[in-house]
Amino acid sequence: AATPSKSYSITLLPGDGIGPEVISVAKNVLNFAGSLEGIEFSFQEMPMGGSALDLIGVPLPEETLSAAKQSDAVLLGAIGGYKWDRNEKHLKPETGLLQLRAGLEVFANLRPTTVFPQLVDASTLKKEVAEGVDLMVVRELTGGIYFGKPRGFDTDDTGEEIGYNTEVYASHEVDRIARVAFETARKRYGKLCSVDKANVLEASMLWRKRVTAIATEYPDVELSHMYVDNAAMQLIRDPKQFDTIVTNNIFGDILSDEASMITGSIGMLPSASLGAKGPGLFEPIHGSAPDIAGQDKANPLATILSAAMLLKYGLGEENAAKRIENAVLDALNKGFRTGDIFSAGNKLVGCKEMGEEILKSVESQV
Ligand code: ATP
Ligand code: MG
Repeated sequence: AATPSKSYSITLLPGDGIGPEVISVAKNVLNFAGSLEGIEFSFQEMPMGGSALDLIGVPLPEETLSAAKQSDAVLLGAIGGYKWDRNEKHLKPETGLLQLRAGLEVFANLRPTTVFPQLVDASTLKKEVAEGVDLMVVRELTGGIYFGKPRGFDTDDTGEEIGYNTEVYASHEVDRIARVAFETARKRYGKLCSVDKANVLEASMLWRKRVTAIATEYPDVELSHMYVDNAAMQLIRDPKQFDTIVTNNIFGDILSDEASMITGSIGMLPSASLGAKGPGLFEPIHGSAPDIAGQDKANPLATILSAAMLLKYGLGEENAAKRIENAVLDALNKGFRTGDIFSAGNKLVGCKEMGEEILKSVESQV
């Protein structure tokens, strides 16, 4: 291995259910890919989620948040499970995740949707439509209608009960998410589609105006705009037309789930959440899968691909990221499949064995 020239500290948050199993595998892959590229990691494992509740009494202990803040990147497994479903709100594992996102001030959520050629049959779409899909949704995560004020319940003039929310975006909030999206498109295929409802909503009119203004900083990226109703349709009709999509909190919530279903394989999908500075948060989009926890059945590829996003978007280490991405393709090409993506004619492996195969492939990449 090369002599380490760079070193980074990584906070690992294994969490609950299959979290510890997939994190253990992804940690080894990250460490090995790094060592082959002259990168050294120090890992610190911290409690989070339901396991932290049981151990310490809160879903996000203070020491966990401060360790995360001080590190260069955070890799999270999954949190939650039936065991804590009846807990009060402040004692839910999911509350810890919201606190972690807020604490790290990660306002940009990146969710790639990649239809791997080897898994194209898992897609909910026709083969011709699904083949070759490789898109990224960049969702604004800390503003918009989920946070805007005023909000609440009231009664109107006639005494009827009403519920209301407000969509608010300030220029600086749009500018910073737009910059993350342009940077992302630049690292990908150079095309950005901004999704809004600027024909109806003032918050969207401002959104479009600011995204268009920021575009002048990125002349190498091709910008287009699309209304959200059309975007929802186009994602199903012809998803290949998209490279990077940038959109607000609520549209991104809906479109990123819609896009993920194109792949049909939840065990394959990573995510990244980035702030202006400080560490990013990287995690698979799947949950803690309590039904298969502790059985070595979990697909670790979503977490391994999250580790690749950590390298690419969190640390700017694109070579090491590419090694991991290629290793995943290689293992799929060789026919290795965990249960969730298994089909006849392939080799069924567990979480650990999939990890071993990825390690072998990481080494043979150049
Ligand atoms: P959450 O509320 O935490 O999102 P959920 O119940 O909505 O949880 P998951 O925990 O993701 O969703 O599980 C949904 C289904 O997908 C389960 O049957 C689970 O076993 C399966 N699953 C999820 N992740 C994986 C994985 N990495 N490998 C294999 N199967 C998985
Ligand atoms: Mg869920």
